[in-house]
Amino acid sequence: MRDKPGPARNRASTPHGGAVVSQDTPRGSMTESFESALSARVAAMADACTRCGKCVEVCPVTGPGGVNAEPSAVIAGIIDILRTGDGPEASRKWANACVLSGECIKACDYGVNPRFLLGMARVAMARRRDEPGEQRRQGVEGFRKVAREVTHISQMQLGDALLARLGQKGNPQPGTPPDFVFYTGCNVLKTPHIALLALDVMDALGVTYQVLGGPGDIATSGRLAESTMDKLARSKSGQVVSWCPSCHVQFTETTLPTIERTRGARPFEMTPFMLFLRGNLDRLRPLLARRLDMRVALHRHPGIKGVVEAAEDILRAVPGVELIDLRQPAVGLMSNYFRALPAYRRELQRNELDAAERAGVDALAAVYHADHRELCAHERDYPFRIVNVLEIVGQSMGLHHDDDFKRLKLIQDVDAIAADCQDLIAQHGLDMTATRAAIQAMLDEQPLPLRSGGGSTSSTGPSSPTPLAPPR
Ligand code: SF4
Ligand code: SF4
Repeated sequence: MRDKPGPARNRASTPHGGAVVSQDTPRGSMTESFESALSARVAAMADACTRCGKCVEVCPVTGPGGVNAEPSAVIAGIIDILRTGDGPEASRKWANACVLSGECIKACDYGVNPRFLLGMARVAMARRRDEPGEQRRQGVEGFRKVAREVTHISQMQLGDALLARLGQKGNPQPGTPPDFVFYTGCNVLKTPHIALLALDVMDALGVTYQVLGGPGDIATSGRLAESTMDKLARSKSGQVVSWCPSCHVQFTETTLPTIERTRGARPFEMTPFMLFLRGNLDRLRPLLARRLDMRVALHRHPGIKGVVEAAEDILRAVPGVELIDLRQPAVGLMSNYFRALPAYRRELQRNELDAAERAGVDALAAVYHADHRELCAHERDYPFRIVNVLEIVGQSMGLHHDDDFKRLKLIQDVDAIAADCQDLIAQHGLDMTATRAAIQAMLDEQPLPLRSGGGSTSSTGPSSPTPLAPPR
């Protein structure tokens, strides 16, 4: 069931004779727990699935993921995993290979969300594999690692004032509810110039917002503290504008529909930033005052419906920008979802970078922060800039924040990076061992090795990044 907001409705027949369970499950009582409501949603979707196999047929990663079985058997195995924690190898491989493209959601005529089911199948497999205590330990360890890295990498780049602007130095509730809540998620704080540009653009549009997010707000299994929910719900529009696609999928496919089942209503709706911006294109257009004369290729991920098209519309609105189609496959939610398919990720990234070089673009622009982290150091080896879409929009509007993440990553040496940031490291009192580990993790996040063999600890010498020019 792709539980969209709205009144409950009864099970209906589709033209194909199957049952649609989109919003047919009875609303739970106010006392139904999050976990039992989540289990009930999974069970309803598993019941509604006809095992037609269309979702498997359209999935772009069954080949790279080595999923070699009849599509109907693969999805039937996923239902087995959901019910027992185990299933055939091809189904386990499919669940692990999923990069959250969402093609399967479009293919299903029965209102089932296969992407959500695959996520729940991964949870069921982990539950069967590990003792609850071990699962908790791994969860806490993973959470602490993300929090440490986000904290160190962001504080190495920002002073207190900008950290406060991003909601990271105490974040008092504004007296009057803002127009929107802007939910950053946590990892965009590693590339803070992107989040700061998003805030600048909203300021220029004249909308009010409260910034929430950061390592303290990471949801586990879709569950969020009630206090966080209440803060997210506090805006005039009832809308949360989300930056991070991982958070967006987690909220819109797991958290909000499950809360709706327990409470009878959703506390808020979520809109991806790019769709918010495209929705304000008429107000944005007059602010795009500077002509840029650039050939730009967009690094595309289709996991959230409409985001690629919105980013293209926004780039086309920038005077002088010529959008170049590199004719490369668009797969997955964000580059970092390809961890289980490392060779496929390298192939996709190499092909795209080479295609951009052949096409003679001035910039390869990504929408999401994880793509920027993985791609930006290739700027050293290719004759074009690697930027975020908002850097281009910002330059046309006269807005700029230095991309210190790219500048630091291009240095390619832990000691030299730590030395570069020593003032901020001292100012924030960062522990040196943890800082060095966070820098190493930043350099290690390089799925496609640099052409000239940049090592993560070797001194290859800092090459000059070529950021978009700050406005004069
Ligand atoms: S999830 Fe939908 S598309 Fe996939 S097998 Fe079930 S009914 Fe068919
Ligand atoms: S979300 Fe994408 S990768 Fe995952 S199963 Fe669906 S189509 Fe395949």
